[in-house]
Amino acid sequence: MAVDPLIELRDVNKYYGELHVLQDIDLTVGKGEVVVVIGPSGSGKSTLCRTINRLETIQSGTIRLDGKPLPEEGKALAQLRAEVGMVFQSFNLFAHKTVLQNVSLAQVKVRKRKKEESDRRSRELLDRVGLAAHADKFPAQLSGGQQQRVAIARALAMDPKALLFDEPTSALDPEMINEVLEVMQQLARDGMTMVVVTHEMGFARTAADRVVFMADGKIVEDRAPEDFFTHPESERARDFLSKIL
Ligand code: ADP
Ligand code: MG
Repeated sequence: MAVDPLIELRDVNKYYGELHVLQDIDLTVGKGEVVVVIGPSGSGKSTLCRTINRLETIQSGTIRLDGKPLPEEGKALAQLRAEVGMVFQSFNLFAHKTVLQNVSLAQVKVRKRKKEESDRRSRELLDRVGLAAHADKFPAQLSGGQQQRVAIARALAMDPKALLFDEPTSALDPEMINEVLEVMQQLARDGMTMVVVTHEMGFARTAADRVVFMADGKIVEDRAPEDFFTHPESERARDFLSKIL
C-alpha cells in the first residue's frame, strides 16, 4: 500500500560530542500510519522523537514534514513544531492551572483562538479522552493515567498533523496503563499519524502498521508487527525480544 508521506527523515545524523547518537536514519511515516519504535535503553529513541520536532539540531540529513523541509529556527519553526504534538513520559502539566486551562492555554497563545472557542474545543477533547467531568480540577487531583490523558487532549488541541509519544505509559502504575493505551488505540483508529516509543508490545501488535527496532543509534529493522514479532531478522532484535516478552 503506497501512502502519502507525512514525516520523512533522509540520511539523518546526529552527534552529542563524540557520541554518534543517530546514524544514517531513513524513516518515512505515511499519513495515518502508526509506527511503534522499540529498542534497548540508550539506543536513540527519545533523540529520534525530539529530532523529528527539531527540539534537537542535526549535523546532516534532511527532515521533511508534509513535503516541506523543517526550518532551522524562528517563527516558521515554531509554526511547524505546532503541527507535530508531543506526549512525554512525564506529563508536564501546569500544576497551578486547571485541566481546562492546561488544554486551552496553547490554543490561545499559539493558535490565536479566542478564549471561548478554545475552551469549547478543550471540553470536546476532554470528553474524547473520557475526562469531561474533570475540567475544573487541578492536575494533582487526578491519577497519573488521567493526567496523561489530559496531556494527550492538550496535544490534540493544536490540531496536529502527527503525534509523537515518548514512552507515554512508562511512568504509570500498571492499572492505569490501559486507559491511556485505549485512548491511543482510538486515535489510531481515527486515522491520526503517530510515532510511538513504547515497551507495550500488545499495543505494538494491535495498533502499529510498522515496528521500527533501534539499536546503537541505527534503525535495525522496520517491518510489519507480525513479521517482526514472529521472525525478527537481526540478532539484536531476537536478543531484545527474548528479554522483554
Ligand atoms: P533512548 O530513548 O533509546 O533510551 P536516548 O535518545 O535518550 O535513548 O539516548 C541515546 C544516547 O544519547 C544515550 O547514550 C544517551 O546517554 C545519550 N544522550 C541523550 N541525551 C543526551 C544529551 N542531551 N547530551 C549527551 N548525550 C545524550
Ligand atoms: Mg528514551
